[in-house]
Amino acid sequence: MAAKFGGYRWLGYMIVVLTLVVIGIPALLVRGCSWESGEPIKKDGVQVKLQVSEKEIISLPLEQYLTGVVAAEMPVSFHEEALKAQAVAARTYALLRMVREEEDDQHPDAHLCADPSHCQAWISNEEMRKRWGWNYRPNYHKISSAVLATKGKVLTCEGQLIDPVYHSSCGGRGTEDAREVWGHEVPYLKSVACSYDAPEKQKPVNTQMSLQELFTKLGIREQAIAVAAGSDLMEIQERTESGRVKRVKVGSQTFSGVELRKRLGLRSTDFKVDCTGKKVIFSTRGYGHAVGMCQYGANGLAQRGANYDQILSHYYQGAKLKTVPEK
Ligand SMILES: [Zn+2]
Ligand SMILES: [Zn+2]
Repeated sequence: MAAKFGGYRWLGYMIVVLTLVVIGIPALLVRGCSWESGEPIKKDGVQVKLQVSEKEIISLPLEQYLTGVVAAEMPVSFHEEALKAQAVAARTYALLRMVREEEDDQHPDAHLCADPSHCQAWISNEEMRKRWGWNYRPNYHKISSAVLATKGKVLTCEGQLIDPVYHSSCGGRGTEDAREVWGHEVPYLKSVACSYDAPEKQKPVNTQMSLQELFTKLGIREQAIAVAAGSDLMEIQERTESGRVKRVKVGSQTFSGVELRKRLGLRSTDFKVDCTGKKVIFSTRGYGHAVGMCQYGANGLAQRGANYDQILSHYYQGAKLKTVPEK
């Protein structure tokens, strides 16, 4: 999911919106998992306007949207408590987007889109059927149960909805401080320990590319190539406190680890690099920006007995889980 900051609304506004959530919940409970893609959706409760493709915007109840997000963002095999933690993070993010004042240039007529590089990933019931086949019903039930078990729960800090960014796997190194990735100090997005990712997620993954590809992607000029094509072509100059690459020199140019990851499409900024002949080999650990909740770590914590509240408290330190009071 993409990370954005600023434009938070005050608690009062939040309560108005969340009251709508509560009003909508009984209807969602009745409908439960019986809603199928393509069926008309009743215009009750909080409706999310979702840009599902370039030309299509659909409107669907918040909890139904969240089921599609959790299904897209986490493997259904994950522990129930990890799925619940994901549901709370997804709900908080969705409401944050809905109460913001500013319009979003990428989809001015929709609250959210289904693109994980911009908002949160989301899949339709039809897509779930394709992915899960015969296991569609039990899988759908597992995920919608996690969403409904956390109804009305959101994360707040000092009375405001937090920006609950999350990523796939920190690779076992622990999470990253938001400041290192986006340059903003965010009190609840500090680096925290995380050794809970599945063992296979903690192993390095190699990606190789030719020098020419490297230079093209980094926009390095031809003249620089001749100068740079020595054994010290790439030099990692600084690492963040969590151990990820903060600054790297390529030839005569310097890049931040975040910029290099973006331009080269690396899995994470936790990498080592080896230049051999005409190739560069990156050995990366983890996947994603590493800020906020580590999804594989959340599953590991759940398997060790943590509940979703404890999981969220670990990754968003200082944030509080709030339940909207029901009348
Ligand atoms: Zn979006
Ligand atoms: Zn982790």
